[in-house]
Formats: sequence, C-alpha cells, structure tokens
Amino acid sequence: MIPPLARQFIAGETPPEALEHARRCNGDGIGVILNLLGEHYEGRAQANEDAMTYQRLVEDIAGTDLQACISVKPSQLGLDISEDVFTQNLGRIVDHAAPRDVFVWIDMEDHTTTDATLDAFERFTRETDGGVGVCLQANLRRTHDDLERLADLPGKVRLVKGAYDPPRSVAYRDKRRIDEAYRAQLQYMFRECNDGIAVGSHDPEMIALAQSLHDDWETPYEVQMLMGVREAAQRSLAGECPVWQYAPYGTKWLDYFYRRVSERKENALFAVRAILS
Ligand code: FAD
Repeated sequence: MIPPLARQFIAGETPPEALEHARRCNGDGIGVILNLLGEHYEGRAQANEDAMTYQRLVEDIAGTDLQACISVKPSQLGLDISEDVFTQNLGRIVDHAAPRDVFVWIDMEDHTTTDATLDAFERFTRETDGGVGVCLQANLRRTHDDLERLADLPGKVRLVKGAYDPPRSVAYRDKRRIDEAYRAQLQYMFRECNDGIAVGSHDPEMIALAQSLHDDWETPYEVQMLMGVREAAQRSLAGECPVWQYAPYGTKWLDYFYRRVSERKENALFAVRAILS
C-alpha cells in the first residue's frame, strides 16, 4: 500500500485507482497523463509485460469518457535491451491506442537515448498522423536542431528543462543558461510548430511566457505539470488554457517518490513534518 505521504505524488498502485484519480482531476478541468512506473528493464519479459499493461490501460481509458492519455518511458519498453525491442513494444501500444483515440506521449530519458527516441517518435507520429507526442530537454545543446527536425511533423512536443545530469560536452549545466535555452526554444516552437506545444514546467515565468507567445502567434498549447506539484496553480490555470497533469501509478513507486521528495527543500520539509506528526 502507498503511504499517505507518497499519495501526493502517485495516483495509486492499480489501474482503477489511477482512473479514479483521472476522474477527480477531470472534475477540476484538468486532463491526466498516466505513466506506469517502471524503467531500465534488462529482461525482455518485463518490457513486454509493461507494454501489455499499457495496452490494457488504453482499453480502460477508451471505455470511459475520461480526458486521459498515457506517457511511456523508452527504457521501460526495452530500449536498454535493444532498439528493436523498444520499437516493437512501442508499436504495439501505438497500434492499440490510435484507433481508440488515446494519445501516447514518449518521455525522454538520458542523452544517450535521444536519437532512438526521436526516430521512434518520427515513425509512429507519421503512421498515426499525430497520435504521438515526444519530450525534448532544453538543457541539451542539440535540442534546437531536434526542434527543427520535428517542426513539420504531426504530433505534439513537450518541452522540459531536463531531469537527467548530462555531461557538459552535450548539455548546459548552469540553471540560467538552461532557462535561457528554454525561453528561446519556446519562442521557436510557438513560431514553427503548429501541431501543439506542451509546456512541461512548473516555472511561473515559463508559463507566463507561453501565455504571451500564444497571444502573439495563436499556436495551440497546453501546460503540463506533475501530480503533487503546484496543484492549486494547475486548477487555476485550467480556467485559462488546457492543463494536463502527469500522474504516475503502479507498484514501483518508491524510487519515484524519493526523487520527488529529494528534488526540492519544500518537499523534503513536507515529508519530515508528515513523519513527525
Ligand atoms: P525548475 O527550474 O525546477 O523551477 C523553476 C520554478 O518553478 C521554481 O522557482 C518554482 O517557482 C517552480 N517550481 C518548480 N518545482 C516546484 C515544486 N516542486 N514545487 C513548487 N514550485 C516549483 N524531464 C525529462 O528529462 N524527461 C521527461 O520526459 C520529462 N517529463 C516531464 C513531464 C512533465 C509533465 C513535467 C512537469 C516535467 C517533466 N520532466 C521531464 C522534468 C523536467 O525536466 C524538470 O526536471 C522539472 O519539471 C523541473 O523543472 P521546472 O521547469 O518545473 O522548474
């Protein structure tokens, strides 16, 4: 069972709990991106099993009126085993999701996986005429070139600052420089990407910038934030633009919970207070 402390960040262990969470968010006008927790599988069986679980989740979503979609991690679908295993598993999920009108996001993992992830995105978003989205990381030096590659493709792009720790040779490491890259890339996306932009950030400055770029360019966009982070802001923003909450679920929640708690002082203090009381 997930302790109450972790429930802030995790939608539950089972699909019914995750769907119930989606229903609650939908009640606040917020869409939900469901992610089954799991990554870096070394065995094909685990990767295939998660791909099957996603296919069942897609059926569950399609059988409801929920505003919900899914987000998958390449290493969860077998990228650490081989690119073929990853592409086959992703293909199974996309083939299942597209006819049911369930959108599939692909998360971006560490910089060594970017090419394989973008190749898979390009293939499946063409095949489904935009039924797939991918995440790009503003901290990577290559991202502007990647945006140029993706600009004319169907499908959405989620821009994030980057959660991994890439070497200086391929990435900006200074927060100010990463923020500068994020702003420049957001401006490029509003000018050049017509198929939908996702602002994957909790940063009020970046969200305000997106709002003003939307006023200038009228490019459709949505804001995406994580479950348990700035939820009051998620609810109030939902009156102004589409807001989607990324909500992880599943039994492998401990590492994810640890990452959330350790990334910010506020979260760590919240955890300590909850344990003491
Ligand atoms: P930061 O630069 O960390 O902070 C800027 C400001 O935002 C802060 O000063 C504060 O005002 C506000 N803020 C940020 N965090 C909090 C908080 N916890 N509580 C209160 N205020 C806060 N990364 C990847 O590498 N690959 C992915 O596929 C990926 N997918 C993501 C999907 C979504 C929906 C989101 C929201 C993030 C995703 N990330 C992903 C993580 C991302 O790369 C960042 O690490 C993370 O979002 C932190 O950056 P930030 O832009 O939110 O704000």
